[in-house]
Amino acid sequence: MENNQITLSIRNVSKTYANGVKALNNISLDIPSGMYGLLGPNGAGKSTLMRTLATLQDPDEGDIILGEINVVKQKEEVRQTLGYLPQEFGLYPKAKAEDLLDYFAVLKGITNWASRKEVVEALLKQTNLWDVRRQKLGGFSGGMKQRFGVAVALLGNPKLLIVDEPTAGLDPAERVRFLNLLSELGENSIVILSTHIVEDVSELCTRMAIISKGQILQQGEPLNAIEELQGMIWRRIVEKSMLPALEQEYKVISTKLLSGRTVVHVYSEENPGNGFELVPPDLEDVYFTTMAGYNQKQVMLQEREVQL
Ligand code: ADP
Repeated sequence: MENNQITLSIRNVSKTYANGVKALNNISLDIPSGMYGLLGPNGAGKSTLMRTLATLQDPDEGDIILGEINVVKQKEEVRQTLGYLPQEFGLYPKAKAEDLLDYFAVLKGITNWASRKEVVEALLKQTNLWDVRRQKLGGFSGGMKQRFGVAVALLGNPKLLIVDEPTAGLDPAERVRFLNLLSELGENSIVILSTHIVEDVSELCTRMAIISKGQILQQGEPLNAIEELQGMIWRRIVEKSMLPALEQEYKVISTKLLSGRTVVHVYSEENPGNGFELVPPDLEDVYFTTMAGYNQKQVMLQEREVQL
């Protein structure tokens, strides 16, 4: 089994669009088999990176190697082992799920009727669409469409599966069902989940990177990143009107409404006193602390690792 493990290695990848936007600024990442979360706000460069990995656009600079394949130069080879679920995709609303999946299977090169029947059946069952296989896609819910997209992406057993912002439009129940489906995918393939939703990563991914303005601010294991923030996240529940004053005085990383009151999290290496209580950090604290640029230690660590 060990032999099947591959790594996706991204080295110094940059991309500037014609309008001058530097969407990727010297990105370097090593992505092993398993679920990998790429977390960042809108406009961070996630889709640009996903499209580049999916061979749909070229970087200006840098190398991308999947196992033995040079992703930038050997596009056909990559495509044979790639599954890509883009942020938005069109489906033929009048087609039935089973028929369309069968059609895509033909396009993927599974021309033998019997093996295609087997593959289509297995994928419809895996994505929990077997009972609705004879229904038209036009009547599918957002979650069903996304799961159908995964079924298509999984045709041909990809070694690299790229899923771009999959949970954005899903209701909570559909989101859980979708994440469960991803979590069942093989340990022997690389699954990259790009998202701006912290819980997607915390519930699912063993490794992750945080990207903002085209740069990687942090990468590693979510649990380690959380551990590094132990003792540094403090909480206080306040009236909303107090916020501006607190923001002047403390490193506020997040504010949330809870039953009409405001829960404030601040980053501080020492006890800030003043009614703040220490709380166990979570991945959201990691994300907001990193985005605010407060945990410089982690940023520096990550830079050093990449240089080595
Ligand atoms: P994300 O997926 O994280 O929201 P994107 O990769 O879509 O980020 O976008 C990164 C930046 O590049 C944004 O500023 C966006 O406006 C810009 N951008 C994306 N695609 C294009 C394009 N085709 N032409 C010009 N600018 C683009």
